[in-house]
Amino acid sequence: MSIKREACDRWFSNVVRLKAKYACESCGAVNVRTECAHIYGRREKSVRWSMDNAVCLCHKCHRKFTENPLDFAYWVNSYLGEGHMNILNEKRNVLLKTNQALRKEIATHYRLEYKKMVEDEHYSPVSYN
Ligand SMILES: [Zn+2]
Repeated sequence: MSIKREACDRWFSNVVRLKAKYACESCGAVNVRTECAHIYGRREKSVRWSMDNAVCLCHKCHRKFTENPLDFAYWVNSYLGEGHMNILNEKRNVLLKTNQALRKEIATHYRLEYKKMVEDEHYSPVSYN
């Protein structure tokens, strides 16, 4: 069952993928369809829009990892490292109650971050949380 993607998800995905320069962070493929892959699934609201919880993957790698969650966990841990995973796990435990207004705020946040990245290639996007 899929979860509906909203403006906040689309802008978040745009920022995650642009940050990776639209290259797959697993296999390195470029000029392919890229997707925003969540480490903890999108049902985990606390980290759904956290940059620490997402990577840019090509469609092939995303599907392969979705079908093989243990491979994904192994790759994520080695790719991001223990420090990153500790921070992510702490964020995961902070409850984020969402409503329409907050989602709109998140969409605006990532829309502006995206704009800054487009205007300055060295700009490093700031995560909402
Ligand atoms: Zn790939």
